[in-house]
Amino acid sequence: MAKSEDSVTSTIITKIEAIRNANPDNLMARHFDADYFRNLDDQNQKRLLAVIATGIENSDSQMGAYAMQNDDYELFAPMLDPMIRDYHGISEDKPIKQAHDWQPDGSTSDLTTIDAGLEEGSMRVRVARNVSGFPLAGAMSRSQRVELENLLINAFKTLINEPGFGGKYLSLTPDNPYEIGAVEYNQRVSDHQMFKDMSVDRYLSVAGISSDWPWGRGMYISEDEGFLVWVGEEDQLRIMAMQRGGDLAGLFERLEIGIHRLEAMLPPFAHSPKYGYLTSCPTNLGAGMRASLHVPLPKLTNGGSDMERVKRAAREFSLAVRGAGGEHSDAGGDGLVDISPSARLGVTEAQIMQSLFNGTAALWALEKQA
Ligand code: ADP
Ligand code: MG
Repeated sequence: MAKSEDSVTSTIITKIEAIRNANPDNLMARHFDADYFRNLDDQNQKRLLAVIATGIENSDSQMGAYAMQNDDYELFAPMLDPMIRDYHGISEDKPIKQAHDWQPDGSTSDLTTIDAGLEEGSMRVRVARNVSGFPLAGAMSRSQRVELENLLINAFKTLINEPGFGGKYLSLTPDNPYEIGAVEYNQRVSDHQMFKDMSVDRYLSVAGISSDWPWGRGMYISEDEGFLVWVGEEDQLRIMAMQRGGDLAGLFERLEIGIHRLEAMLPPFAHSPKYGYLTSCPTNLGAGMRASLHVPLPKLTNGGSDMERVKRAAREFSLAVRGAGGEHSDAGGDGLVDISPSARLGVTEAQIMQSLFNGTAALWALEKQA
C-alpha cells in the first residue's frame, strides 16, 4: 500500500517537473516544491492535488490552480504564496495584504480627456465574491449550487423592486421559474452580458468549476442593463457594472453601490486581511476586481491578427490584453481588444481604476505613433 502510494507521488512529481521545463510560464509548475508536497499527509496531498489538477492537466495554464475551499489559501500558503506573489508582482520583502479603498484620489479618470474617440469604448468593472458557508465553485455539489442560486434569487427579488435597480433574473437551471431558453441565452452571450457555456472550458472543467452545468447558473440584470450579477460562474458571484461614455469614476460608483446593497442581504463574503476577497483563482484575490475597456488598437494588433505584440506592449503598463470576446478569445478584425490592469491583490479599487486610466492613455499614445 505504502509502496504504490509512493509511486503515485513520484509520478505526479515527475509530471509537474516536465511541465516546468516545457511551460516555464505555468506558475503552478514554476513554484511546485516536491519536498513540500512529499511531506504533506495523505489527506492534504489529496486536497492540494485537487487545487493544482487544472495546471497539471492543462500544461499551458497561466496560474494552474483553483482553490476549492476558502481555507486552502492559508493551509497551502507555502505552495500558493509564491505563485500569488509572482502573478500580482508582490516581492518577497513585502507582506501579502489587502486594503480596500474605493475613493478616487482626485486625478482625472474620464477617458474622453485622453481622446474624444474613447467615448465610444465599452467599460466594464467586475468583482468576484463568494459567500462564507459554502465551498468554492470547484467543490460545490449540485444541490449546493441550486441552494445558493435560490438564496440569491430572494435577494434579487428585493433589488427588482428598488429604484435604480429594477430588471430581472434569468436562470439557466432546468425548470427554474426564471429559466430562459437557448435563443435568449445565446443573444445575451453575444451582447457580452451573460457568461459562456463553461462546460466546454477545459481549465474550468478539470477543476470541477463547470460541473453540474447549467444547474445553479444564472444572471440578474438591472432595468437599464448597466448593473449585472452572474451566479455560478468561476466564482459564486461576479458583480459588475457596464457602460459607455468614458466616465470611469461613475462606473465604479455604480458597482460599489450595487455591491453594498447585495452584501446587506447575503451571508458575509469570504474575506481575509491577507488575501482580501477569497476567490477560486488566485489571480482574482484581493480586490477581486477586473476593470476593463474595449478599445480598438488596429495598428498595435496588426489588424487584429497579432495579439503577441500588443500583449508585450501592454505588460510595460501592467495591463493584460484579451480579445473582445473575453478570456482566450482573439482580437476582432478591427483590432478591438479588452485591456485591464493585471494586479488585483495589494492594490485598492481606486488604484485599479487609476491604473486602467493611465494604461489606456499610454497604450493609446503608442497606437497613435505606430
Ligand atoms: P471576466 O473573467 O472578468 O468576467 P471574461 O474575459 O471572462 O471576463 O469576459 C466575460 C465577458 O465580458 C465577455 O463577453 C467579454 O467580452 C465581456 N467584457 C469584458 N470586458 C468588457 C468591456 N470592457 N466591455 C464590454 N464587454 C466586456
Ligand atoms: Mg472569466
